[in-house]
Amino acid sequence: MATETATLAPSTPDLAPLRESLHGPVIGPGDEGYDAARAIWNGAIDRHPACIARCTGVADVVAAVRFARERDLEIAVRGGGHSVAGTAVCDDGIVIDLSAMRAVWVDSAGRTAWVQGGALWGDVDHETQAYGLATTGGIIGHTGVAGLTLGGGIGFLMRKHGLTVDNLLAAEVVTAEGSIVQASADEHPDLFWALRGGGGNFGVVTSFRFALHPLGPTVLAGPVFWAADDTTDVLRCYRDFVSEIPDELGTVVKLCRIPPLPVIPEDLHRRPAIAVACCYAGAVEDGERAVRALREFGTPLIDLLSPKPYVAFQGGFDDTVLHGWHYYWKAANLAGLTDEAIAVIADHAHAANSPRSYAAMFHFGGAVARVPHDATAYAGRDVAHNIIIHGAWLPEESGEHASAETAWARRFLQALEPHRTGGVYVNFLDSDDDSNRVREAYGDGIYRRLAEVKAAYDPDNVFHHNKNIQPG
Ligand SMILES: Cc1cc2nc3c(=O)[nH]c(=O)nc-3n(C[C@H](O)[C@H](O)[C@H](O)COP(=O)(O)OP(=O)(O)OC[C@H]3O[C@@H](n4cnc5c(N)ncnc54)[C@H](O)[C@@H]3O)c2cc1C
Repeated sequence: MATETATLAPSTPDLAPLRESLHGPVIGPGDEGYDAARAIWNGAIDRHPACIARCTGVADVVAAVRFARERDLEIAVRGGGHSVAGTAVCDDGIVIDLSAMRAVWVDSAGRTAWVQGGALWGDVDHETQAYGLATTGGIIGHTGVAGLTLGGGIGFLMRKHGLTVDNLLAAEVVTAEGSIVQASADEHPDLFWALRGGGGNFGVVTSFRFALHPLGPTVLAGPVFWAADDTTDVLRCYRDFVSEIPDELGTVVKLCRIPPLPVIPEDLHRRPAIAVACCYAGAVEDGERAVRALREFGTPLIDLLSPKPYVAFQGGFDDTVLHGWHYYWKAANLAGLTDEAIAVIADHAHAANSPRSYAAMFHFGGAVARVPHDATAYAGRDVAHNIIIHGAWLPEESGEHASAETAWARRFLQALEPHRTGGVYVNFLDSDDDSNRVREAYGDGIYRRLAEVKAAYDPDNVFHHNKNIQPG
């Protein structure tokens, strides 16, 4: 975006009182940096808020919530700004922007960390690995901690250490009333339950306290790539392989064009392929044994599975999904990897137009499945795999690719319909996934309980720019 957007929103409020009460900047239409401040990771989202309140701490968040409530302004909350659905920014209202609040404080003796609400997973991995510690986070370093955690949090360490929410010990929340509340097993336990999967419905989380676990800093990790023509055989081998792996081994299948990363020879760049990315949360030599059957399968195009710093592995794919590209996605939980489901995946995964589009499939089980279903608001614990179908294209290709990639993702999801099990990961919903899909994400029992907590903490549904739970 080359020029700042100077057009004032129809109902632009007087921002002076907000500017006086905040330590951070308040950026309105016409101000320098407005276009950069309203831009989020998904470049297809082009919204014009009345202002962006870039908070520097809890007091700023309280002031921003109160200012918005007094003027009945729409509120969007921005953590890492990474949601494909674009709910971190709204038209006309106020964006409560936590992107300047990225501190991570590690208590190495207690094996916990406090993480501010605007931190990214790259920040958490960087700080915690300085002490040889880690917690379950996302697989892309520039994903926000807040949105990911509030939806559940899946990643390579989840089979060993549980979901991100299973490692959440406490959170500090600014409520719709503008009050500061601590939520944990002992304080506001109903709110604490809802925060662990219920999304951004219950207030602005200014900091999270996580349990940490010893890890690395060197881990056996990386992807093995095979040619796209081998997709069916690799997926059948993978199905058998994961049925016997230890909890330490986290895997994600990626069906993509091989990214043009410096570690990959140029002649392989952009070749259609299937990859299994692995991360072993234990001793490297045990990991070597655990992955042997997989890496010996068929004839890989390239095997990048080797001992490496966990931080480098976690950031290794960051450049394959850049800020400002246009994105659209669809997601499903899979009942299992039957031959029929594999056939659908093999037929559709490589049929995207854009070389940047891909599908990714996470493997669950282990510690995720051992937590009782209703212990947290995350509903998909009994799922074996979920899949995201991720259309991605350059902004200048938006005419050509936007409709083709959107149609590809929808077609692919439709073909998977007979192979889906109930539910969908709420963080993998897009803007055109309606309230029925939000209900589907939770199932009736968890949704009802979330609606009760919503009624207690946000009865007026002030926080509705999200995957919304209606107060019940
Ligand atoms: C490329 C890519 C990879 C991903 N990988 C993973 C993965 O490995 N594992 C996984 O679990 N998910 C993954 N996700 C999904 C991710 O969890 C969601 O996109 C999540 O919303 C990102 O969090 P964020 O803070 O960046 O979101 P934002 O876009 O900043 O916010 C999204 C919503 O979260 C809520 N929110 C954000 N911050 C706060 C806060 N401080 N307080 C209250 N509510 C808040 C608001 O409702 C907001 O509308 C991935 C997404 C992408 C695009």
